[in-house]
Amino acid sequence: MTDDLLNPDIPVPEELQSNIAITTVEKIYNWSRRSSVWPMMFGLACCAIEMICTAASRYDLARFGMEVMRPSPRQADLMIVSGTVTKKMIPQIVRLYNQMPEPRYVLSMGACANGGGPFKEGYNVVSGVDKFIPVDVYVPGCPPTPQALLHGLIKLQEKIERQSLRSVPWYQKGPGEAVPVPVLWPDLIDPRQVPQIKRMAAEHLATLAAGVMAAAPAAAQAQPTTEAAQSTAPVRKPGLTPEEIARRQALAAQRRAEREAALKQASEEGGEPK
Ligand code: SF4
Repeated sequence: MTDDLLNPDIPVPEELQSNIAITTVEKIYNWSRRSSVWPMMFGLACCAIEMICTAASRYDLARFGMEVMRPSPRQADLMIVSGTVTKKMIPQIVRLYNQMPEPRYVLSMGACANGGGPFKEGYNVVSGVDKFIPVDVYVPGCPPTPQALLHGLIKLQEKIERQSLRSVPWYQKGPGEAVPVPVLWPDLIDPRQVPQIKRMAAEHLATLAAGVMAAAPAAAQAQPTTEAAQSTAPVRKPGLTPEEIARRQALAAQRRAEREAALKQASEEGGEPK
């Protein structure tokens, strides 16, 4: 039993101190949890190389009870997001997070996972994984060194030690709440933002409709009314070449001339035009 489990408020006779440890359930519960965090085995980009180095012999994650990288989210309780989070990848990350049993933790490793990094505001990059899943520890750097990752993991251990059995979310009544998986089409859509997107779309449509209503009277006044005005106005239809427009205008003029000749002939003969 380690010294940090001994409660200094409870006196223990000196001859028994090497045999007896008195502590609280909460302390021993948190001590066992923080000493056996199992990270999930996955990496996204260059930061993953540093994470792999951290697990190798030089830095030796086994000192923290974290050497067992699990290939399944159902056996892991720590997600290390190491690398660039793309819009294509975030639905899978959120799904894996939802599949991890509670208690679960997330460590964001590197500038990319923290806020987009060198690719921030890129067309295909998420500006921080914490926009979708809750992050417990951020490790800065591009990439962070193995020592920085170890420091982040020690900070996570300190956080676990501070948690109380009475207030942790996974012991509250009712089922835990899953994070909605984002939808990638046509861009990334967070289902939690759908009401906000609908409201903004309705406002946009209302603005467009108001603009059309205001422009309608002015357009009616500017409309040519005589046949001459209509025939002289060059109307460019989308997709028509200048040659095609000229051919159609010549055909229309020919038909108009034929019609006028027929009318003239009918008026001279006193009958109806054919
Ligand atoms: S933070 Fe730097 S090293 Fe890490 S994934 Fe992004 S670009 Fe690569």
